[in-house]
Amino acid sequence: MASMVAGLVAARGLVAQAAAPPSPGGPTADEALQRLLAGNQRFMKGETTSPRRAPDDFRPLAAGQRPMATILGCADSRVAPELLFDQGVGDLFIVRVAGNVVGGGGALVKGSIEYGVAELGVPLVIVLGHSECGAVKAAIKHMDDRDPLPGAIGELVNRIRPAVTKASGMPGDRLSNAIRANVAIGVKTLQGLQPIIAPAVKRGQIKVVGALYDLRTGGVTLTA
Ligand SMILES: [Zn+2]
Repeated sequence: MASMVAGLVAARGLVAQAAAPPSPGGPTADEALQRLLAGNQRFMKGETTSPRRAPDDFRPLAAGQRPMATILGCADSRVAPELLFDQGVGDLFIVRVAGNVVGGGGALVKGSIEYGVAELGVPLVIVLGHSECGAVKAAIKHMDDRDPLPGAIGELVNRIRPAVTKASGMPGDRLSNAIRANVAIGVKTLQGLQPIIAPAVKRGQIKVVGALYDLRTGGVTLTA
């Protein structure tokens, strides 16, 4: 906890330059993306190498981390980033919340992603949606039926409503369109997020991209 607080204080000091410089010798956004897509190809083909999961891998990381990407993914049990990108400990800075919503997570989600960029020098942020997303399904059903949802689920689902609205009237499958729109909204929100992410994107220091994971094929495709 103390190191986290120290890190956040350090991150505040970096706001003047908006984002930490990329780690020396670390991958660029494009290189990180290529590595992750290559890992996903291995995953799809059943040829995973399951890298960096042994004691000799995680012990050195106790002194610090240099993840190559931040993944904002859904909490869905079938969408585990280290598995589907065939990466190991220390590789990915992961934020998971049902429906991979940026806005709905408020300061918690945005602040976590900003921390990765400002303090850890992560060059790549991926908003990762997935097929058959239950949170997006619930948003569609809730909007159609106007039924109350228990607890805070209604509030979470409400954050996905703009994606459902944006996708309405589009040709094709309503759920798939809403899932894609939800990713697009997340990417756009992050790309415009001041004062850390937006300037870093503008300078070309980091990239924020959208991607979709197909539960049936195991494949990840980048969205436009
Ligand atoms: Zn989901």
